[in-house]
Amino acid sequence: MLRCSRACAVVVDSLGSMNVEPGLYLYLGSAFGPGGIEARLARHAARSKAKRWHIDYLRPRTSLVEAWFSTALVQLEHDWAARALALPNAVVPLPRFGASDCRCASHLLRFPDSDSSSRSIEQTLAASDSDSFGRLEAAQLRGLARANQALRRAAG
Ligand SMILES: [Zn+2]
Repeated sequence: MLRCSRACAVVVDSLGSMNVEPGLYLYLGSAFGPGGIEARLARHAARSKAKRWHIDYLRPRTSLVEAWFSTALVQLEHDWAARALALPNAVVPLPRFGASDCRCASHLLRFPDSDSSSRSIEQTLAASDSDSFGRLEAAQLRGLARANQALRRAAG
């Protein structure tokens, strides 16, 4: 989850321009590639990098809040997107964001910036997967990104 404190606009690849209002931005993704969740979260935590996914366009304009994850071997991102969209106050800031290859309205949702938003999102996601659900705070995510960069430098 990301936080935008000041309104701005970003052009998100072929989706076009998005008005980024202040608020909390929940992005849903999966990480079944090499390196798994660890590598994916480290990449998202890094502010600037080559732009590959829609989220890479938004990331430099936001700050990290926290991340929720599931180590389940099934893909939960679409189910999580639907459950989060059903929450009161959920807004789709840009249709199809992160959802080019599925039928979800969007994999990016905006919520009012409050502790209660954050809590209800976490409870909603955890409810569908209590066994393999976890959470990382912003400081832990930044640490992960630093470790990842150091490892890549050492590997040349
Ligand atoms: Zn989807």
